[in-house]
Amino acid sequence: MSNELPTIHNWVDGALSTSTSGQTAPVYNPATGQVQAHVALSSQAEIDAAIDSAQAGFEVWSATSIARRQTVIFKFRELLNERKAELAAIISSEHGKVVSDAMGEILRGQEVVELATGFPHLIKGAFSENASTGIDVYSIKQPLGVVGIISPFNFPAMVPMWFFPVAIAAGNAVIIKPSEKDPSASIWLAELWKEAGLPDGVFTVLNGDKLAVDGLLHSPVVQSISFVGSTPIAQYIYETASKNGKRVQALGGAKNHMLVLPDADLDLVADQAINAGYGAAGERCMAISVVLAVEPVADELIAKITERIGNLKIGNGAGGPDGEPDMGPLITDAHREKVSGYVDIAEADGAKIVVDGRNFRVDGHEDGFFFGPTLIDEVPTTSRAYQEEIFGPVLEVVRVQTFEEGVALINSGQFGNGTAIFTNDGGAARRFQHEIQVGMIGINVPIPVPVAYHSFGGWKASLFGDAKAYGVHGFEFFTREKAITSRWLDPATHGGINLGFPQN
Ligand code: NAD
Repeated sequence: MSNELPTIHNWVDGALSTSTSGQTAPVYNPATGQVQAHVALSSQAEIDAAIDSAQAGFEVWSATSIARRQTVIFKFRELLNERKAELAAIISSEHGKVVSDAMGEILRGQEVVELATGFPHLIKGAFSENASTGIDVYSIKQPLGVVGIISPFNFPAMVPMWFFPVAIAAGNAVIIKPSEKDPSASIWLAELWKEAGLPDGVFTVLNGDKLAVDGLLHSPVVQSISFVGSTPIAQYIYETASKNGKRVQALGGAKNHMLVLPDADLDLVADQAINAGYGAAGERCMAISVVLAVEPVADELIAKITERIGNLKIGNGAGGPDGEPDMGPLITDAHREKVSGYVDIAEADGAKIVVDGRNFRVDGHEDGFFFGPTLIDEVPTTSRAYQEEIFGPVLEVVRVQTFEEGVALINSGQFGNGTAIFTNDGGAARRFQHEIQVGMIGINVPIPVPVAYHSFGGWKASLFGDAKAYGVHGFEFFTREKAITSRWLDPATHGGINLGFPQN
């Protein structure tokens, strides 16, 4: 039976490349619970071949003029904009998120492509004439070479697009190792690059598991690693790639809090808590997981959130006779079990389950990996269910008495990806942005993913390394600088023999 299903192979040398490793992993349709394809898990020989092809692609692309490179990127942007509906359908079918949300992730990725079209301004060097008499000093930025991108399942298009438009614009060749849970978006993007005129070997898709990741981490050809995924793997990637002398940016997990001050508009807060807590079934690194309610607002806010949960439609993200639902399933059955386990832990630790999404089923999709929106009150901060990332549609309410108590709690956590404050008090918001130990902050904005010309990245266990994704950080990460000190000798300025250290 499974032999009849398609296999998703690699993209090497500007074409699909059939893996002969004999190893595959299942790719599910999470809404039906059925395996819909298999993804090839590359062998070491296939990993090596992909890296060799990328190195050859780099040699061509890095010698291609800025003007030509810019034309290809503009073309890619136009094709993506025209055909993004195809990509949204692919994302929804393998990830489970609703199609309009898949479209949202593409548009956020497209922003980075649009930023990259203006790359000449961002990679040009600087020139200082006559730094010393007759001496000019200037700097140039060059690409790194072959760069690796290892991405998570939750944004199969947007996360790769945080990196590859910038890397390619700067003259690098990229190898993407997509999540084995939803690998098709990367292949679709590879085909689009081909159509846009990108030379073969500049965009490679290497499907696989740990072997493929380790192949990139240990290859002397691969110059840098951009990773997004869970914190334990991010730490492993950071340590291993650094030990092997590579540049590395490794973005990890999150547990994002929304601090609600008593003066906030609670209808606005309830709407935003629903959107940011349950959108994409909570499988977003910038999802809100904890509502930190500064008393006396908790009871009223919980009532408003509960009422709104009752109106949410949960179903197949691809839509159906009743249109598009608000929320789709989780990625796998195993992940659903994990999310469910965290609700069990919260309950055992004394929390109150206000809305229980365990054992939630969707009519007609009984085998789908659905988990209902869940709301938990009075979660003890000593519980693992509070301290760890759940990555599902579970909102936890923690009640605090003061602004200071809320800030201290957020700052005590292991993660520092995103956070938000809801208030009408500008002074409190300003104090929050100054004191909070988190990389991305929303003020009355629940999912503060920075626009493409700022950079994306958290603090603490949410980002290993010092380079964020895209924006100026992205261009810094994907280029290296040379500084040149130049003198054109003539008899008038020749200083004769002097063994002292050069001075001005
Ligand atoms: P994951 O860590 O399981 O997998 C990420 C990538 O690492 C995949 O390509 C996977 O194949 C690979 N991988 C998994 N185990 C490995 C191992 N032992 N050795 C080498 N490679 C391995 O993450 P996921 O479940 O795909 O994604 C969800 C996680 O990603 C969540 O923790 C979420 O918070 C995080 N995330 C973070 C951000 C951010 O910006 N900080 C953005 C999106 C997702």
